Amino acid sequence: MELKPGLSALVTGGASGIGKALCLALAEKGIFVTVADFSEERGKEVAALVEKENAKFHSMLKFPSAMFIKCDVTNTSELSALFKKHLATYGGLDICINSAGIATPVIFYKDQTDGSRSWRHTINVNLTAVIDCTRLAIQTMQAAQKPGVIINMGSASGLYPMYGDPIYSASKGGVVLFTRSLVPYKRQGIRINVLCPEFVETELASKVDSKLIGLMGGYVSMEMVVRGAFELIRDENKAGSCLWITKRRGMEYWPTPMEETKYLLPSSKLRSRSSFVAPLNIQIPQSFEKIVVHTLSHNFRSATSVVRTPLRLPIKPDHVLVKIIYAGVNASDVNFSSGSYFSGNKKDLGSLLPFDAGFEAVGIIAAVGDSVKNLKVGKPAALMIFGSYAELTMVPSKHILPVPRPDAEVVAMLTSGLTASIALEKAAQMDSGKVVLVTAAAGGTGQFAVQLAKLAGNKVVATCGGKEKAMLLKDLGVDRVIDYRAEDIKTVLKKEFPKGVDIVYESVGGEMFDLCLNALAVHGRMVVIGMISQYQGEHGWKPLNYTGLCEKLLAKSQTVAGFFLVQYSHLWQPHLDKLFHLYSLGKLKVAVDPKKFLGLHSVANAVEYLHSGRSVGKVVVCIDPTFSQQVAKL
Ligand code: NAP
Repeated sequence: MELKPGLSALVTGGASGIGKALCLALAEKGIFVTVADFSEERGKEVAALVEKENAKFHSMLKFPSAMFIKCDVTNTSELSALFKKHLATYGGLDICINSAGIATPVIFYKDQTDGSRSWRHTINVNLTAVIDCTRLAIQTMQAAQKPGVIINMGSASGLYPMYGDPIYSASKGGVVLFTRSLVPYKRQGIRINVLCPEFVETELASKVDSKLIGLMGGYVSMEMVVRGAFELIRDENKAGSCLWITKRRGMEYWPTPMEETKYLLPSSKLRSRSSFVAPLNIQIPQSFEKIVVHTLSHNFRSATSVVRTPLRLPIKPDHVLVKIIYAGVNASDVNFSSGSYFSGNKKDLGSLLPFDAGFEAVGIIAAVGDSVKNLKVGKPAALMIFGSYAELTMVPSKHILPVPRPDAEVVAMLTSGLTASIALEKAAQMDSGKVVLVTAAAGGTGQFAVQLAKLAGNKVVATCGGKEKAMLLKDLGVDRVIDYRAEDIKTVLKKEFPKGVDIVYESVGGEMFDLCLNALAVHGRMVVIGMISQYQGEHGWKPLNYTGLCEKLLAKSQTVAGFFLVQYSHLWQPHLDKLFHLYSLGKLKVAVDPKKFLGLHSVANAVEYLHSGRSVGKVVVCIDPTFSQQVAKL
């Protein structure tokens, strides 16, 4: 909602503190204000100031541009009269700010009264009245048939405990969850949000121990509180949002979308929007094609060939047959074809040949064995098993990861998305408020890492080679994109992040590894995801050394952690669900490289394309173009 002259606002607790500051800030925009408060003298003063300010915008009005209405917010009939009067005067209600609040005047367990100095009164003013005002504001906005915004004043003590005043904390905690539960009113054009500042220099905070305020980093400025409220009014996406404001960290939404995914279940609407209907006739052929590695080499093209093989039927009782639609291409395909992923003597590895190639795919269940009860023919499924570069694959049912759709975006969420999601949680132990550096950030896994780090509330720095990739990263919300073709990464990091970066998600290796490690802050954690720059050397994978690694880690209490996705298979399904959920909500984007690779014979081209450094986002191969077209038409 644009804050413009002619709108009207009602502010409870408008005679002092945050309420007064908001009344005056609204007046500066030419907005009519009803100041509601218990305190008559101060309330009238504020209304006069608002009128004076409003005179700059309006002349010859037939009604007052500001009104003071004396009102006890714990009295429902007084509140009803207040809202009625506002509606009658201004013909609607665009903004309602419920700011009236008090501290608890007694120690609650010693309290034996029921009057205005009881703990119950604090709950009545801070919580019950906010609910009542929200109710009346919704009714008033509905009556005027115009969109509106309601802001309830919560407090940081509604997010975490305030030991000095547990009743205040309880009341504000109630306001926070009450407001966050009001998202559905957005459909009627009414957005209700809650603002949670830490200590602001008002009469209410004057009784708080100054040492505690010092520990919190000092008072939050009134200007920041006003800025927060205005952001919640202006941003049409904000409904049920909780804005936390501290001197220490600035403005942050609470909880982060990453935290939300821990408890939010996809709504039935999202489920149905993402539900997939498979074509009716899935034909099972007598033979199918797949890619096998016949010679160990990091040159994928010369190591592999497409072979036709008979389909061995009947299906084993606990197996399922999956028709593959999309397969994902990974940097490590060349490590697999060279045998680097198998332990043991390279000469002995020859005995494993030929073996099936490809790590991941999505498709449709084409048939199930007799003992498989939980999976049905026609359902979409994902696989993360060796042998995914194939038209069909027969796998034990326990390896099936049910997914909502067999799309290219979903295949991108498998190895690439899961690596980012699990590695950042487990190996990087990522929380919020940190500086996170991601290398090869516009690639398959990098794109997920930058977004998840951002969603968790971090500042994200990302490296890439080229303008197109830099544009994608900006679009994904990266704070500082370093295109190494245009800027020197080391110089930028030194100049703009002199204290170093806290977390590094590193997948390039070689000189990039050294550079990132040198840029790591004290207590920093660097996660080794891969070393793509070394996979295709003339003589294959060439390990490098970092001289003085131990000394450096010791001197700065740093951690370098390795991460290999196959060792986290127990976390695949929950993290995949989380990624799909964020994607369905529009909070996570999935970039699939636009270059089309169709059929198994294009896989070697796709692998080479990934290693050319030109790809942007996830490289995928559509294994059965006809099938994917049929699905798209449905
Ligand atoms: P990707 O990031 O899509 O790979 C392509 C990008 O890597 C390129 O756009 C380029 O980005 C960079 N690149 C390619 N060749 C390079 C070279 N020779 N030297 C330097 N940079 C080069 O590929 P991905 O499959 O998602 O894999 C990325 C990394 O993550 C790989 O190291 C892979 O092994 C690793 N990975 C690890 C796991 C695990 O479990 N640990 C799982 C998945 C992936 P810029 O030029 O823009 O930097």
